[in-house]
Amino acid sequence: MEIDPISSAQMGSPAREEDAKALQFIEEMTRNADWVQQNVLAQILTRNAETEYLKGFSLNGATDRETFKSKVPIVTYEDLQPLIQRIANGDRSPILSSQPISEFLTSSGTSAGERKLMPTIKEELDRRQLLYSLLMPVMNLYVKGLDKGKGLYFLFIKSETRTPGGLVARPVLTSYYKSDHFKTRTYDPYNVYTSPNEAILCVDSFQSMYTQMLCGLYDREQVLRVGAVFASGLLRAIRFLQLNWQQLTHDIRTGSLNPMVTDVSIRECMTRVLRPDPDLANFIARECEKDNWERIITRIWPNTKYLDVIVTGAMAQYIPTLDYYSGGLPKACTMYASSECYFGLNLNPMCNPSQVSYTIMPNMAYFEFLPHGPDSSGLGVPVQPIDLANVKTGKEYELVITTYAGLYRYRVGDILRVTGFHNSAPQFQFIRRKNVLLSIDSDKTDEAELQAAIENASRLLRKFNTSVVEYTSYADTKTIPGHYVIYWELLAKDSANSASNEDLDQCCLAMEESLNSVYRQCRVADNSIGPLEIRVVENGTFEELMDYAISRGASINQYKVPRCVSFTPIMELLNSRVVSTHFSPSLPQWVPERRC
Ligand code: AMP
Repeated sequence: MEIDPISSAQMGSPAREEDAKALQFIEEMTRNADWVQQNVLAQILTRNAETEYLKGFSLNGATDRETFKSKVPIVTYEDLQPLIQRIANGDRSPILSSQPISEFLTSSGTSAGERKLMPTIKEELDRRQLLYSLLMPVMNLYVKGLDKGKGLYFLFIKSETRTPGGLVARPVLTSYYKSDHFKTRTYDPYNVYTSPNEAILCVDSFQSMYTQMLCGLYDREQVLRVGAVFASGLLRAIRFLQLNWQQLTHDIRTGSLNPMVTDVSIRECMTRVLRPDPDLANFIARECEKDNWERIITRIWPNTKYLDVIVTGAMAQYIPTLDYYSGGLPKACTMYASSECYFGLNLNPMCNPSQVSYTIMPNMAYFEFLPHGPDSSGLGVPVQPIDLANVKTGKEYELVITTYAGLYRYRVGDILRVTGFHNSAPQFQFIRRKNVLLSIDSDKTDEAELQAAIENASRLLRKFNTSVVEYTSYADTKTIPGHYVIYWELLAKDSANSASNEDLDQCCLAMEESLNSVYRQCRVADNSIGPLEIRVVENGTFEELMDYAISRGASINQYKVPRCVSFTPIMELLNSRVVSTHFSPSLPQWVPERRC
């Protein structure tokens, strides 16, 4: 079911004094976007003038955009890695930032198979908190009465490690949930969660999810919004309910807590929540035991007004499933952020997912935009990045940031399209992340990683004189959790000695072992990706694929096998040629310790 975007005509007025102030702040920042940007850059450059990095470019105290752009190069993570490595190893000199690096944020983007380490400083937490504080004032303009109930949000922390130099390395949300900003937040009637902090802060994902679900079930009538950071996280929670509703309803019926939840602080806090409620248990059991789980979210949490999950970018693949489980509830994508920097927010959060545009807040960092797309490079002349206020509606750009924490002209890798302006601040549709072929949860697998994984796995076939002649891939999100599907066309030169099913199962595992650490963490620790599947197709299938592409206008000379597919006719063709399917028989290796 499609939900009509709520037009600005349906927008109300600020719910309270604090909201009016937050909205006023958004107005000021966006009205003066260019001026704010100029000041942000000057502040970053003044403060960090004595860093080893900036001194290397002889800015000589200049803080203006022209000098900065002419002297400081645009870089990628790989360019900075030697410096980041020194910081990780314990060098406390001002390498990138004049302020001490407080920790590393581990990005879901990888470099050489490992998570990227983003240096951060203490005050960045305040900047992130500021962006969070703007979300509810905006939402309250569109949805009334959110102070009359609670939010059921499935929020999780992940394990953290230390670099050789002793700095903590963890994902940005783990850092935020463990901060006082979150843990000791003041009571806000518009931001009451059903999940206790103790459950959110438990690193064991089963115990955390179990407790959060149990609390959400107890509070079923108070719940006004249901969410997770990404759509995949919410679907994981639904799957969890499918697998665990019997134990959950047992606990509700008896007022006891599943003995598998052993975390002492959770058990302690749950004594204040648990009570025997046979009627509630019976109701939930009746709903869950039905074969049909359509609209399960609204059946169990009947007062839910919207889902709060990101469904833009790679997460758009989950929209049909979310609609199925929620009866098409509105899906609010409230913000756009990364480990490097929080960027901005959606000023019209109840709009249809296809209409979502994020307004980049000019106070968060200094932003530049590298023109992207077929008409951007012209005749080989290097393209110059453009300032925030000067981007053009309809054009696509790659985001480049300069942060307070010491990233200068850093390519984030996101491609954005300008959809319009709010005051003088542009609004962007998230188009895609560069070079990402497959993504199920926070994993991002690029073409080179997939190719390397195929090569590693196909080594197992050598002894059978068999090789992989063609392949493509597909992110299958119809299963929960979703999983990677790899289509293989094999050339077996020795029919008397062909690979067995078990050998091909092992190829699935070999592929998983070769994929990056974020993929393996999702598989092993988060259980947010299912076993990798190889579908062997008949000989000649990829030639048929090419014939099909050519019949639709592709040039024979330039035809390249697509390394990832999703177009229905192509999927149908591939699936109709499958001769055998194979799944990874066990989990790949993943260790939380990172070796810096
Ligand atoms: P990480 O650094 O691991 O937190 O990942 C950040 C990346 O996630 C961003 O650079 C985007 O590619 C993606 N991302 C974050 N927020 C959104 C959003 N609202 N819509 C689409 N993609 C997003």
